[in-house]
Amino acid sequence: MTRARGAPDTTPIEVEGRYFDGVTARPHPVTLRLDDRFRVSGPDVARDWNLLDLRAAVSVPPLMRIGPAGEAARVEFSDATLAAALAARCLDLHRREGSGGTVRLVLWSLAAGLSVLLVAVFGVPRIAGLLAPLVPEAAEARLGAVAEPQILRILGDPPVCAEPAGRETLDNLVTRLVAAGQAEGSLPPGLAVSVRRHGTANAFALPGARVIVLSSLIARARSADEAAAVLAHELGHVRRRDPTRSLIRASGTSFLLSLVLGDLTGSTIIIALGDALLSAGYSRDAERAADSYAVDLMTRAGGNGAALADILERIAKDKHGGKSEVLDLLRSHPFTRERAAAIRAQAGPAAAERQIMSGGAWTALRGICGPSATTAAP
Ligand SMILES: [Zn+2]
Repeated sequence: MTRARGAPDTTPIEVEGRYFDGVTARPHPVTLRLDDRFRVSGPDVARDWNLLDLRAAVSVPPLMRIGPAGEAARVEFSDATLAAALAARCLDLHRREGSGGTVRLVLWSLAAGLSVLLVAVFGVPRIAGLLAPLVPEAAEARLGAVAEPQILRILGDPPVCAEPAGRETLDNLVTRLVAAGQAEGSLPPGLAVSVRRHGTANAFALPGARVIVLSSLIARARSADEAAAVLAHELGHVRRRDPTRSLIRASGTSFLLSLVLGDLTGSTIIIALGDALLSAGYSRDAERAADSYAVDLMTRAGGNGAALADILERIAKDKHGGKSEVLDLLRSHPFTRERAAAIRAQAGPAAAERQIMSGGAWTALRGICGPSATTAAP
C-alpha cells in the first residue's frame, strides 16, 4: 500500500470480528470498519468509536482485542492489515491508564507478571492464596462491579428488597457488625450488602466487598441472630478476600494476565466468575476462618454466635436425602458436625441468652422484601 507523504491514510478497511458487550461472555458476530472512525455493526450491535479513544488489550497475534478507554465493550479480530492500520491511526492504542501512581502500577505489573510465571511453575492453587491479598482494592472493586450483574443474571435477576424499615434495620446491623470487626482490622470501606428476593436460602460474598443475601435465607432464619450470623460469616469471607482468591483459582493465569493488562472484563474472566462465586465453594480452612470471624463479630456485637451453627444445621437436616441445588448454601459452604461443634465451643454456653436485635427490629428485617415474603418460610 502506498500513500502520499504526510497525508494520513484513510482507506477504509472492513473485516469480520466478534463483539463482546462487556457484561456477558456471549460473542456477537460483527463487521468492523475502519475509516475516520471505528464502526462495529452486526445483527444486534451498532457502535461507532472515536479512533483516539481506542485502546488495545495485549493478546497473542494475530488475535487483537480493542475497545474504547473506560468501557468494558471489546471487539476481537485476527486481521493483520486492520491491526497495522489501527496502529498507524490510533495514537493512544497502547496507552495504559492507571488509577494509582505510575511507580505503583509498574511494581504491580511486575509482581503480576512474575506471578504468571510462578503459576506456570507451581500451579494455581498455591499461588492464589498468596496473590489474593496483593490484588489492588481498585481492581477488586472493578471485578465486583463486573461480577455482580453476572451473578444476578445466573440467579434470574432477582429484584432488590428495600422496604424502608427493613433496609434501615439491615443498615444498622451491618454498621454494628463492621464496628465489632474493627478489633480484627477493618473491613473494606466500600462494603455493600443487598437483599434480593429469591427462593434459595443463601448468601454470597463477591469481590470488592459486596454481599448478596437472598430473601429465603431471612425467611428460613428462626431468629435475627441466625440471619445476622450468616451475614457475619460472609463478612468473614470479605475480610479474607476469599471471593477474589476463589476467582483466581477458577480462572488461573487468564485472571493474572488480565490484571497485568488492566483488563478485568475479558471473556475468560466472566465465564469463570459464576462458577467461582456460586458453586465452587471455599476450602475448609476458609470456612473455618469465616465461622470463627462470624462468631467473634456476633459476640462483640452482643449477639448469639452459636446461631450460625443452628441455621446451618437446620438447613443441612432439611436437605438430608434431598438433592443439592447448585445454589445451595451448603454447596458453597460445606457443613460438617465439626464445624457446628467449633462454632458452639467458640460462642460459649451463655451465647444463647444474647440477642442481636429487638423483636421489633427483626420483624422489620423480615419485611424487607415487602409483606408477602415474610410468609415464605416453610
Ligand atoms: Zn462460607
